[in-house]
Amino acid sequence: MSQAEETTPRTPGIPASVMPASSNGRLAPPRLHELSPQNLYDKCMALARNLWWSWHPEVNNLFRELDPVRFRQLGHNPIALLAEFTPERLEARAAELVLYSRINQAYRRLKEYLAAESTWSHVHAGVLGSKPVVYFSAEFGIHESVPVYSGGLGVLAGDHIKSASGLGIPLVAVGLFYKQGYFRQQLDVDGYQHQEYLHSRVESLPIDRAVDVEGNPVVVQVDTRSGPILAQVWRMSVGRVNLYLLDSDVEGNTPEDRELTSRLYGGDTRVRIRQELVLGIGGVKAIRAMGITPGVYHLNEGHSAFATLEAIRGRMDRDGYSYDEAVRRVARQTVFTTHTPVPAGHDRFDGGLVEEHLGPMRDALGISHDHLMSLGRVETHNHDEPFCMTVLALKLSRRANAVSALHGHVSRRMWNSLWPAREEEEVPIGHITNGVHVPSWLSWQMLQLYDRIFPSGWFRRMGEPDVWQKIYDVDSGELWETHYALKNLLLQFVRRRLARQCRRRGECDEAVEQARTVLDPNILTIGFARRFATYKRADLVLSDIDRLLAMISDPDRPIQIIFAGKAHPADEPGKELIRKIANLRHDERTSGRIVFVEDYDINVCRHLIQGVDVWLNNPRRPLEASGTSGQKVVLNGGLNCSILDGWWAEAFDGRNGFAIGRGETHAQDEITDQRDAAALYDVLEKEVIPLFYDRDSDGLPREWIRMMKNSISSLAWRFSAHRMVMDYARACYVPAAGGVSCDMANR
Ligand SMILES: *Cc1c(COP(=O)(O)O)cnc(C)c1O
Repeated sequence: MSQAEETTPRTPGIPASVMPASSNGRLAPPRLHELSPQNLYDKCMALARNLWWSWHPEVNNLFRELDPVRFRQLGHNPIALLAEFTPERLEARAAELVLYSRINQAYRRLKEYLAAESTWSHVHAGVLGSKPVVYFSAEFGIHESVPVYSGGLGVLAGDHIKSASGLGIPLVAVGLFYKQGYFRQQLDVDGYQHQEYLHSRVESLPIDRAVDVEGNPVVVQVDTRSGPILAQVWRMSVGRVNLYLLDSDVEGNTPEDRELTSRLYGGDTRVRIRQELVLGIGGVKAIRAMGITPGVYHLNEGHSAFATLEAIRGRMDRDGYSYDEAVRRVARQTVFTTHTPVPAGHDRFDGGLVEEHLGPMRDALGISHDHLMSLGRVETHNHDEPFCMTVLALKLSRRANAVSALHGHVSRRMWNSLWPAREEEEVPIGHITNGVHVPSWLSWQMLQLYDRIFPSGWFRRMGEPDVWQKIYDVDSGELWETHYALKNLLLQFVRRRLARQCRRRGECDEAVEQARTVLDPNILTIGFARRFATYKRADLVLSDIDRLLAMISDPDRPIQIIFAGKAHPADEPGKELIRKIANLRHDERTSGRIVFVEDYDINVCRHLIQGVDVWLNNPRRPLEASGTSGQKVVLNGGLNCSILDGWWAEAFDGRNGFAIGRGETHAQDEITDQRDAAALYDVLEKEVIPLFYDRDSDGLPREWIRMMKNSISSLAWRFSAHRMVMDYARACYVPAAGGVSCDMANR
């Protein structure tokens, strides 16, 4: 195995700003020797313990260079890496690599970052002051080394809090600590998915116990009719943001309850309501114990909606408000973001489960079982209707939003019955389209290119359009070469992963050797990676296999496709889809040009979105609320080819990528699927492939590069998490905290 495999794309150099003094031709500063081994070690550990390092390539590189092979083997976890060094050995290694001034500089930058006062928020969201936004989410995807996420919702939450940190928004985040995280995926020889759960070691994670105002470790208790559930609280630093993770694995809980928060989306509805109880009610109690007074509650999806009930109880207790008044006040402070465009996707609980788990809460609120149930019902007096978390969130928040313009329409239609007196357009659910955290997803190579051409300080203004217009000043040949280098890194990564997969399955040497050489950087490379939910139709491109094979084996203009993605453990149709695609490698006719990379996670995603030519997305419209992976592709020069759904429905302008179809759907899914498949083949054959292979005398695809630039200039700022969080701040946080309202989702 080579050393470069599976790391984030290798960096050929070090950014000038963090060059060691000696490599600039100047002498190394004499002060270096004052740094004792322990001092050096402590600084490295301080860097490793704030996830700020993960979106700063120069710090990431520091850790990697200490031991590239181990860093990769340890899943890019710098704490686990440092644990293998003594201070003395670290010092020796740092001396060998001349790392002192880079470590010092990184440490100083972190300190400056944490201390900075002149942030965007300082000017635009001052009202939040000492009363922060409390952001609840059932999962957070921050880095592959912290496995408390499963997919898109978590990564969005991670990107949200990173941008909140960057913009200086006073925000604390609340989630659950999943000791076993989400599963690791392995396919067997037949292509069938197997799940493996790993136990995280707390010592190797950047977390410590949260303490209350008196300095004691926080333990919260949530009462139910069948006994209390206890949870301890871990604190994780994500730049300037504290993320608090509740963990039910504590003494005093029953053995089952100790397992409650061990896995994401693992259990039945009883486990689910208990997890949500810990997240929502436990979360508000934990925040209170730490002496934090929330200015705003932001519920990222309905899982955490019980938080509102605990907040209401708190206002009644502490401020002496009546129930009705407390409800009004909490709702005014609460922002709800819905992510699910299908009714079946929302958590629902029957009356028995609700009474068992919220009985003590309703006693404290002084409300009847019926009244409590009505808060989670569309038809308040329909005793057969279960309790829906989304309904609770909608009723107890003054501001609610969907995550793309199209999803806004879908959500207003879906929930119109909650506001029967209103027309569909007047249903008070707005939209704020999702975006991605640029520093986390932009490759180091593209960053270098942008840094040279973009206005200085552009990194703080990446949510603004004019910054990105400069992409037209970038030399086309250079842009293409940078993309080509990234594509090569992706192919190296994929080959090594495939070889490893073959070895693990005990396949013959020949197969391993073949895996090492598959794929060709000169061939149009399409990526498709996402959860294998059936509505995402991973097999749409296989609908007419002969037509696909003709494209794949075209002698002059072939294509190759890289697939990745997990199916939920209980989703047999999803697993079947994976099997079907993974097994295409045995089909001679594909010439090894369709591959499946196992265990899709943030790391695999980063490689894919940085290296593909085209990112394929073909969900059944309008079921993709937003999607964000395609936004990550934009930053790195890849082009989107997508159904007009989610963010793409508002992003596509005819010159910044490719649309599959025109956004029509049919009442019958089979007909929609047939039409979309035909449209997909058409756009590939008539637009994507010809444009990619149309080269000038220098071998450059001029029109393709033009489209890359159009994509970057029109989309990168708009679909950045900085823009998204600024929208939340202006339209939701500031008014919810009592500042001047610029209404958008206000009721
Ligand atoms: C960005 C990301 C997603 C979200 O992508 P979609 O476009 O919603 O499919 C999912 N999983 C991982 C690991 C990601 O990094």
